[in-house]
Amino acid sequence: MSNGYFKVEMPKNEPVKAYLPGSPERASLKKELERQSAQVVQVPMIIGGKEVWTERKTKAVMPHGTTTVIADPHELVNVKGNEAMEYILDAAGDAPLGIYVMMPSSIPATPFETNGADFTAEDMKQWKDHPLVLGLGEVMCYPAVLSKEEQIMKKLELCKGMVIDGHAPGLSGEDLKAYVEAGVMTDHECTSFEEAKEKCLAGMKILVREGSAARNVENIVPGLVKEPEFIAHFMFCTDDKHLDTIENEGHISYNIKKSIQLGMNPISAVKMATYNAAKTYGLNDIGVLEEGKDADIVILDSLESVEVHSVYKQGRIVNTEFFTKEAKPVNESMLHTVVLKNISKDKIQVKAEGKIPVIGMIPGQ
Ligand SMILES: [Zn+2]
Repeated sequence: MSNGYFKVEMPKNEPVKAYLPGSPERASLKKELERQSAQVVQVPMIIGGKEVWTERKTKAVMPHGTTTVIADPHELVNVKGNEAMEYILDAAGDAPLGIYVMMPSSIPATPFETNGADFTAEDMKQWKDHPLVLGLGEVMCYPAVLSKEEQIMKKLELCKGMVIDGHAPGLSGEDLKAYVEAGVMTDHECTSFEEAKEKCLAGMKILVREGSAARNVENIVPGLVKEPEFIAHFMFCTDDKHLDTIENEGHISYNIKKSIQLGMNPISAVKMATYNAAKTYGLNDIGVLEEGKDADIVILDSLESVEVHSVYKQGRIVNTEFFTKEAKPVNESMLHTVVLKNISKDKIQVKAEGKIPVIGMIPGQ
């Protein structure tokens, strides 16, 4: 480098405006917000190639402000293997919103399942370098990791250097250390701040989940409010959130809203939802507003209410016209995979005498 000469142009910033009350830039911004608020549009969301319409007419153009998702198509691949991977990557590449994919790691999730397809480390090789593939999906079979079973170790080895998501409810102590040592980087199954903190101190990044069934924000965020030094290692996720719950309460926007209600500084909550997540998954073009990066912008009515006013994806406003492209039809072979033959009460009856073990449910977990 000693013979190199560089002539770097001085960067020229656009004038920084203050948007002070009474200033012309504030007046023009207000006028534009009012113009957009006056528009009534119905917003479709495209899931699995189908348009899902929000019944509610809303002034917000994209209802919940999520511009990028990272999906683990475990259920699809569990049934259709490589064909499903091909389908999801094709659909993701075509979708107007950002969709990245993790390769499902645990097909099947337990040896007791009778699933439809295999998805081995050998299968993963063909997808690993796809630009939309970020790494290995939640490693659910943590007992297999702890006992170093060959298949899962091969998958972990193959995905070294990529993101490896975990799934380890309640794992702690030496077992947790061994799980992290094997390369697993995140966990979204924490149900208390203590559990999340232990995993974080073991080197993991934590996704605080709020879905349709499992709801963990209330049990984790108050701890983060007390010990904010951990926030840099925390993000949000939904895991499984049904369309009706999304419509009723929002998506990641709901995790933010609830965290603020629980006392979190709004800037920290937004940072967890944007910057921290983008950084963890190596998505360098999003998560921060900077010259040269994607203009994925969510405009909120206020930082207190966190109502989404409007959404921009790569600089384009997300409204009905945003979704003009017709979704490709789903391959016939991907459909009708669940075949139920006349189920009757007596066929699913458990015949037993005396006490039998059953699985209980903890509401919200
Ligand atoms: Zn999980």
